[in-house]
Order: sequence, then C-alpha cells, then structure tokens
Amino acid sequence: MKNYVLLGLAIIGLSTAKAQEKTATQLYTRPKLVVGIMVDQMRYDYIPRFWERYGNNGFKRMVNEGFNCKNNHFNYIPTKTAVGHTSVYTGTTPKIHGILGNDWYDKEEERMVYCTEDASVASLGTTTDAGKMSPKRMLSSTMTDQLKLATVSRGKVIGVSLKDRASILPAGHAADAAYWFQGGDEGHWITSTYYMDKLPKWVAKFNKSNAAEKYNKTWNTLYDINTYTESIADDNEFEGPFKGEQAPVFPHDIPKLWNDNGKFDLLKGVPYGNSLTVDFAEAAIEGEELGKDNITDFLAVSFSATDYVGHRFGVSAKETEDTYLRLDQDLARLFAYLDKQVGKGEYTVFLTADHAAVEVPSYLESLKIPGGYFSKKEFYDPLNKFLSETFHSDKLIKNMSNEQIFLDQEVIKSLGLTSTEVENAIVNEIKSYKNIAEAYTATAMRNQEFTHGIAHSLQMGYNQNGSGDVLIVLRPGYIPSTSRTGTTHGSGYTYDTHTPLLFFGKGIKHGATVKRTEIPDIASTICALLGIEFTSGKSGEPIQEVLE
Ligand SMILES: [Zn+2]
Repeated sequence: MKNYVLLGLAIIGLSTAKAQEKTATQLYTRPKLVVGIMVDQMRYDYIPRFWERYGNNGFKRMVNEGFNCKNNHFNYIPTKTAVGHTSVYTGTTPKIHGILGNDWYDKEEERMVYCTEDASVASLGTTTDAGKMSPKRMLSSTMTDQLKLATVSRGKVIGVSLKDRASILPAGHAADAAYWFQGGDEGHWITSTYYMDKLPKWVAKFNKSNAAEKYNKTWNTLYDINTYTESIADDNEFEGPFKGEQAPVFPHDIPKLWNDNGKFDLLKGVPYGNSLTVDFAEAAIEGEELGKDNITDFLAVSFSATDYVGHRFGVSAKETEDTYLRLDQDLARLFAYLDKQVGKGEYTVFLTADHAAVEVPSYLESLKIPGGYFSKKEFYDPLNKFLSETFHSDKLIKNMSNEQIFLDQEVIKSLGLTSTEVENAIVNEIKSYKNIAEAYTATAMRNQEFTHGIAHSLQMGYNQNGSGDVLIVLRPGYIPSTSRTGTTHGSGYTYDTHTPLLFFGKGIKHGATVKRTEIPDIASTICALLGIEFTSGKSGEPIQEVLE
C-alpha cells in the first residue's frame, strides 16, 4: 500500500516535472542562430510571379515549411533603403528611430548628412574613407541590440551586405561587426574601427582569396531567354543599358564593361553581387562560429544587387526575372549551408525587404496606366516666384530634399512671420501644381493625429527634430526623376510598401495569412519568439499566427 502511494507520488512528481518543462519550453524558443534576410527592393509579387520557376529549396522552402505574411506593408514615408533596414530592426518608424532617408538635410549642421557617416571613426580594410561609418544616428535599439543585452553580450551579432547602410543599421549599436563591400579597384569586404581595431583573420583571408574576381564574367540568363515569360521583351526603351552598351540586352559582357562601370562596383549591379554576399555570409558563419553553441547568435544579411538591377532595368525586365531566379538559388545554397553548419531546425530565418518599387513610369504610360515624372525644376521655379511675390524674400527656403521643404526660421522671424503662416501659404499654393497629390504642413504633422492613409504614413515618417516644414506627396505612379528608364521607390503607395514577409525554422508555424502586417511587427515577433525584451522604440506588435 505504502509502496503504491509512493509510486503514485512519484508519477505525480514526474508529470509535474514534465508539465513544468513544457511550460518552460513554451515561454521562449532559443534557436542557435537567427538569420535576418533583407532583399533590397523586393516586391511581394515577385514570389507569386516567379513561383513556377523557383526551385524547391529557396523561396519555396520558406513558404512550404514556414509562414507567409502575404499582405505585409511599410507604414511610413519615405520607403528608402536606410529607413527600411532601420525600421525592420528597430520595430518602429522614422518618427522614433530618426533615420529619415539615405541622406537628409540636418537642420543643426545645415548640410545634407549620410545615414551612417561618422567622421570620428576610421576605415578598416580599405585605403578610402568608405569605412568611416557607424550606426550613431539611429535613435532606437534594434532587435540585435536586445539580443546582446539579453545574452549579456554572449550572443554574437554580425551584419553582411554589399551596402554599408544595409549592414550597419541591422547589426545595431552593440554588434560584433558589420561588413560591407568596397568596389572600385579594391573588391574587398571592409568595416569600421567602430567595431574593432583590426580585421579578423577570416576576413583578411577571404579578401585575399580573389572571391570577388571570379564573378567578373558574362551575365547571361540562367535558362533559355525564350522561357522567361514573366517579363517584357529584352530590348525596350524603359531600361537603362550599362555604360558602353548599345542596348539593355543579354548577354551583358561584364569583363568588357568592367572599367567603364566602376570595376568591382559593377558586381553590385548584377546578380553575382548577391552570390558574393552568400559566399561572405558563409565565411562569417564559419569564421565567427555562429550557431555553434546554445546561446543565440544573429546574422543580418542584406541582398543589395536586386536594388541596383531594379533601378536600372525596372520591375518587368528580363534582367529582374533572372536576378530573382538566381537569388532563389543563392538562398537555397545559404539554407543548405545552415543545415550543415548549424543543423536543420536549429535556426530561425525571416526574409523581408527594405521597400518595394513602382513599375517604370514610362512603361506605365505606354499601357495608358497613370504614372509619370515629376520635375523638381518645374515645381520649384513657380514656388520660388510665389514666395518672392508674397513675402518679398527669396531666402525663405533653405533646402528641398526627399520631397520635403525646409524653411529658414531666422528669415521667417526677421520678416515678422510665423513658420505656420509660411507653411500654410506653400501648401495652398502647390495644391494646383502639376502631379502633386497632397501636401501637409509640419504644424499639422505635430498637432493633428492622422489615423490612416497617406497622411498617417507621412506622420509615421515625420520626426519633430529632423523633418522638413512642408511635406509633399506625388500622384500615384509618379517618381521624382526625369530619366525615362529604370525605376525608383520612396512613396507610401502600395507598389512601394507591399513587401514579402516570410519566416521559417525553429519556433515558426507553417501557414499563411492575408491579414495586414506591418514592418515594425517583425522585430517584435522575433523578440517574442526569443523571449527577449522588445526594442526601445517599439511600435509594432508580435504577429501571433507566426509563432508556435
Ligand atoms: Zn533603391
């Protein structure tokens, strides 16, 4: 009897221990490695559009094993690279994180500043100033910073991208390193003394290996070009050829174009730049022993060649179709490497973009779909004339950049005016200007609450200390450029905001949703998965459906 009681107690004890264990494992998931993947300028529709041609181990693996958020959007303006990377990793918008563009007008310094410039640090790995960079202008912590805090710096954080800003901003303030690619004559991966005093041995070894040189080879289509049915004719007037090319058509003779197109910089503009990024990411995983122990590490990888290809050739080009088919293979290679080095099911991946892009406006015009070009000169000439006539001064505007007007507050004061008066006058005047959809005053951005639509996106991008005094919105399909080839991004319209959001690996459910998710939700989802504190500027919420 006594024995039975003891046995019973033991069973109860065991099941309680089991239950506790279960509760404990539900509190958080600790993958050995988180891999954050950003694909520069990737639109959501590149997943369905090229689906039939993707292999099973890249995009399809993420969708088939993981979770697909089909209706994911940027919720602020401007949709630009530095802003996108920062918003994904800080889980908030420029209003809070302070990265207002790739470049923007700094009101205190009275000049254009670059998002990651930092004169107080030095270059490592290059003889140029290209390494004088840091994340010091980013005002919120990142999810990578939060991992550093949560692991008492035992979790390693490494950023990798062809572009400095796409490596530095995701890696955060407390990163072990961020590496980016120096083109020109060098062709090396470089960094800044912000992170270290000397390049690690594995980076020096990689740079010596001529890894970049091997991609100086002709770019032809991966498959027979006649099977590329998701894009328009190869030779058309909507694409910009490389310097020295007669037409923007395959094959692109990279060795012949090399000297006229920035030498190693040319690799950024062809899909080989993405392959080189995977080569370097794999070297980083090995060199830094990422994902080797049970303390979570973080690798932030950004693929930038997609953006350069998109800018030159546009959304519907053969070159773009080919670039994504090749990226799919590069992703498959990276995942296979992670399976081998870290272990299947031991790592967690998310993939998104820093912004999307509009179809080439001249191509839209050819189809009679609204779209076109906004000439800054045609806009500012009549505006300057109006201001001179109305306020008897031609010194009211200090700077015009990123579709924002910065007023000279000293001049306004000296004329006995208020900023609000001048802002309102400008907004009223430009309403009738060509191809302007809307304009807002900074006063309105500060004093009203916009809950939806374009005005809400502008407000999420409006930073009291850094933004301009009048904010301009172009009509849908219009870009602030006069070049009729290639495309760009930056607006709050769906074509710029709708980007993929895929998760797969440890702790991720299989499924999909068409519920709207927003970019700041990503960092909160990863923090919730890991059971670490949210980012300091957090404004997004975890996407519950994604997590086990
Ligand atoms: Zn871009």
